[in-house]
Amino acid sequence: MSPVQELGRNLVGDVSYEKLFSQASMQIHPISFIKLPKLAHQTSTHEVGDDLVFGSMRIRRFCPGKYVAISETGDWEILDDETLALLPGDDSVLPIDLKARLIAKFLVESPFQGAGTALLKKARLVAKRSTVQSGPSLHIIVPTLQCAHSCKYCQVSRALESEGHTMSIEVLDAACDSIFQSPSPVLTVEFQGGDPLLRFDLVRRAILRIEAKNALEGRTLRFVVASTLHQLTADMCEFFNQHRVYLSTSIDGPVALHNQNRPTPERNSYQRTLAGIELARAHIGPASVSALMTTTRASLAYPNEIVDEYVRLGLPEIFLRPLSSYGFAKRNQSKLGYSVEEFQAFYEAALERILWWNSKGVQIREVYASIICNKILSTFDAGYVDLQSPTGAGASVLVYNYDGYIYPSDEARMLAETGDVSLRMRPIRAEVGQGAGVLVQLRAASEPNQIEGCRTCAYHSYCGPNPVDAQAQHGNMLAPVRETEHCARHLALFDNMFERIAGASEAQLDLLHQWAQPAGLRESVCEG
Ligand code: SF4
Repeated sequence: MSPVQELGRNLVGDVSYEKLFSQASMQIHPISFIKLPKLAHQTSTHEVGDDLVFGSMRIRRFCPGKYVAISETGDWEILDDETLALLPGDDSVLPIDLKARLIAKFLVESPFQGAGTALLKKARLVAKRSTVQSGPSLHIIVPTLQCAHSCKYCQVSRALESEGHTMSIEVLDAACDSIFQSPSPVLTVEFQGGDPLLRFDLVRRAILRIEAKNALEGRTLRFVVASTLHQLTADMCEFFNQHRVYLSTSIDGPVALHNQNRPTPERNSYQRTLAGIELARAHIGPASVSALMTTTRASLAYPNEIVDEYVRLGLPEIFLRPLSSYGFAKRNQSKLGYSVEEFQAFYEAALERILWWNSKGVQIREVYASIICNKILSTFDAGYVDLQSPTGAGASVLVYNYDGYIYPSDEARMLAETGDVSLRMRPIRAEVGQGAGVLVQLRAASEPNQIEGCRTCAYHSYCGPNPVDAQAQHGNMLAPVRETEHCARHLALFDNMFERIAGASEAQLDLLHQWAQPAGLRESVCEG
């Protein structure tokens, strides 16, 4: 057996990879092998795979005996031990069909590489990055932090009687005008809180001002209000209908779980959110409201019940979101939190249930899986902010906070509520150039080709470091990327999706391709 064959055969074994690497590289093409440390919170089922970098392809073992080779264009090929062992050898030993696929996917160079191939590759890269390069397109306005709920995991909200947590009219007007400093032809304006409907007057004023300004600008506008919907009235619905405003709310699961996660003094938050959904559907239309959920420790035991609740409510999408480690959620982490593996087990069980409903003819899609499928299966990136690289924070999204400052992401303004204002960009009314320093730092901390850990990661065409998460978790944007929760979660999500794809029937693959279409994907994570 040649060293190279041995290399492939022993990827899952306990041999000295470095020794094999040195033997292999002396005899054939340059090849590098990076053995990564095991993370403290990883189980044997989702250990960090050994990254193999071979020419411009990065290879990762996503389950025992299965590997994926990914090119910089994001094209991929699934390999087994046998085909993996052939790769570093002479091209002539590759089966002709495999060789043709590897060339077509930019995984190996064509012997007839010409200008056409180079142009094609460039076009693939440009298509992948087109959403990222048009300037900030998601603009989040936070009119107030006040909210009637007292969710333990909520990052920021303040009680109704709490003063000093609402935007002034002058700042609101300046925020609306600032949005048009973005060159993006499509502007999504999302109102978050707290509960923005507690200050419907501000939401209404902002929408009218932005529309008036847009009469001259001619951009494509989209409005979203993220709310509990408890304050929703027929008059508000009338306004939202006229101005094509989309509503986003939270349903954490069946009534008991939702009311436990999202307490109100009357213990009826589920019933009131449901009443809001019904009101919106009656006045605006059946597709006027979407919902998402936050996974707490209490949710982990109910993956099927949570999915079934969404089916029962006729919601076509569910977003199974992990708890984020910001603000109040971080303080309550010991009561509410769980490990990456516990989330993954819950997530996979819930996803199974969603696929089961689809097999029964009920169309419901999981948003996180759609984002992962979009990365793997689509030519066009949907531009999901958390997986952009360099980071989408500040580049694709800007937050106009009630405190009069602009932040590069929703998470960055949540950090500020806990006293860490290092990611504050500039006052809303200041010159555009101010705040550039934060953007430079964020970019430097999220360029996957420069960051140890990401540089060799097979998934780096789809993912990248999340410096805001690193700042929240470790107090340092440049914390070792493989020790971040963001990284561990996404390695597991991509591994599991490749495992699904590798074993999928034709019907299942069709479904995953449908999910990969950008339409309907959420640009942001909102906390309504
Ligand atoms: S952050 Fe993403 S690209 Fe970087 S190492 Fe982790 S999974 Fe790979």
